[in-house]
Amino acid sequence: MDQETFDNVQRIRSNVRRYPDGWREAHPLTGLMYCADCGAKMYVHRVNNGKRVPQYTCSAYSKIPVGTLCPTQHRINADVVMELIKELLKAIAEYSQLNREEFIETVRKAQTSQQSSEITRLKSRLSEAQKRVQDLEKLLCRIYEDNILGKLPDERYAVLDGQYSKEQKELSAEIAEMEAELSGYEEEKQWLKKQNFKNTAEDAYTG
Ligand SMILES: [Zn+2]
Repeated sequence: MDQETFDNVQRIRSNVRRYPDGWREAHPLTGLMYCADCGAKMYVHRVNNGKRVPQYTCSAYSKIPVGTLCPTQHRINADVVMELIKELLKAIAEYSQLNREEFIETVRKAQTSQQSSEITRLKSRLSEAQKRVQDLEKLLCRIYEDNILGKLPDERYAVLDGQYSKEQKELSAEIAEMEAELSGYEEEKQWLKKQNFKNTAEDAYTG
C-alpha cells in the first residue's frame, strides 16, 4: 500500500463512527456498509443469542418502533462479509490487470461524475450564499437609515445590526471556502486535461 492509498484509507476511516468491539477485533466496514433495503448504515454487533459472533445489522431496523424503517435486521456474519469483499477485490484486481485501459477509464468516469455532482452542489450553494450576502448588505443599510430617521430604536438597531453582521461574516467565510474548493476542482481538471494530452501525444509518438 503506497502512502497515498494509506492516507486515503485513513481519511475515509476517520469519518466512520466506531463502536469498539469488546474483543478488540477489527471490523473495518462498520458504518461503511449500507443496507440494500433502506440505505441505512450497518454496524457490527458482537453477540447473537449469547454467542460471540460479530454480525453486521441494519441500524434502521432497531429504531423505535422496531421494524418500521426497515423490515428486517439483515444479519450477516462479519467474516462472511470479509470473505465476499476479499473475492470482490480479487476480481477487481484481476480485471484491472486484464483490462487495464478499461479499468482506468471506469474509475476515471466514476470519479468525474462524483466530482461534477459535488461541483454542481457547491455552485448552487455558492450563488445562494452570494445572494444572501447582498441582501444582508441592503438590510444593513436599511436599518442604519431607519435608525437615523428615528424609525428604528437604538436598542433594536443594535440587535439587528449584530445579527446581520454576524451572518454576513459567516457567509463570507463560507463563500471563500467554497470558492477555494471550486478552483481546486478546476485546477485538477486542467491538470488532467494536460496529462491526457501528454499521454495521447506520447502514444502517438511511441505507437
Ligand atoms: Zn435496512
